[in-house]
Amino acid sequence: STSSDLIRATLFPGDGIGPEIAESVKQVFNAAEVPIEWEEHFVGTEVDPRTQSYLTWESLESVRRNKVGLKGPMATPIGKGHRSLNLTLRKELNLYANVRPCYSLPGYKTRYDDVNLVTIRENTEGEYSGLEHQVVRGVVESLKIITRQASLRVAEYAFYYAKTHGRERVSAVHKANIMQKTDGLFLKCCREVAEKYPEIKYEEVVIDNCCMMLVKNPTLFDVLVMPNLYGDIISDLCAGLIGGLGLTPSLNIGEGGIALAEAVHGSAPDIAGKNLANPTALLLSAVSMLHHLDLNEKADKIQDAVLKTIAEGKYRTGDLGGKSTTSEFTKAIIDHL
Ligand code: NAD
Repeated sequence: STSSDLIRATLFPGDGIGPEIAESVKQVFNAAEVPIEWEEHFVGTEVDPRTQSYLTWESLESVRRNKVGLKGPMATPIGKGHRSLNLTLRKELNLYANVRPCYSLPGYKTRYDDVNLVTIRENTEGEYSGLEHQVVRGVVESLKIITRQASLRVAEYAFYYAKTHGRERVSAVHKANIMQKTDGLFLKCCREVAEKYPEIKYEEVVIDNCCMMLVKNPTLFDVLVMPNLYGDIISDLCAGLIGGLGLTPSLNIGEGGIALAEAVHGSAPDIAGKNLANPTALLLSAVSMLHHLDLNEKADKIQDAVLKTIAEGKYRTGDLGGKSTTSEFTKAIIDHL
């Protein structure tokens, strides 16, 4: 169908289990009558000189044009002369914020059953600027870059997210007592943005204390915003609170309003092509994408069906201790819609 009511979105099924879990998303979206038309793009078999990567210029243009997309896991081919696929996407689309909603899945028992928080990670600078060198033999230096521009940008997104998702509080995570200049600037930017959102509570938490609080009582937090390295670690810590990377959705926000949703896990080559993969993380990433598009009713409907299927426990994939195939699990979700 090419009806003009449909929203076009780019879909990268990706490698390994990617095509199988992407198929699950397509089926669930069809059954839920989500008004999305997928524009499918595949990772190329040779390096595109325009992107210096196996991702073609056309696929990047597709995301730029549609401004929204869903991505399965991608395995970067080994060899010289090309950029990693994920790095290419991040750089070319300027994906500056990584958003991970993290909530307990009812019926899937972990240490906590009432986690409901969101981590927002600055994704372009900090310790990941790639500026490392040897000063003299035995001494190396790595530059941690914090800019006002990138800090304001991610802080803006965090408060905007809180406001548009009915969240009450934003906590900035930092170590400004030691990293006075860098984390100090990050905090200063968060404070500036906080002033524009008087309806959202703002607080600052030192990273080490934050870790302790998260493992003792994750319900203390709502939206967390932080520089790159802290975000990398804390977002995985939070994924662990709800049962692991196989269940955790994420959404990357880029320049010009681009949103690229992706599961957090990899291509799982050990189970690829066997109809064993759990599509939950990609499905919940797709749900995040729907919220971003303000298709909240469809998003809630799909999320409910996924959570009910897992809670019921009759159909679960192997990673959750069940015996169901990807297609059986997908069918159970569709039956719950
Ligand atoms: P992985 O996440 O692919 O697998 C780790 C373990 O988790 C495996 O046992 C796998 O079977 C299991 N697993 C992962 N997702 C699952 C799912 N949806 N359902 C059931 N089981 C699941 O991590 P890895 O083995 O370190 O990486 C494999 C490949 O994926 C590598 O090439 C890596 O570069 C790539 N990778 C890509 C991304 C991405 O595109 N965002 C992220 C991480 C890894």
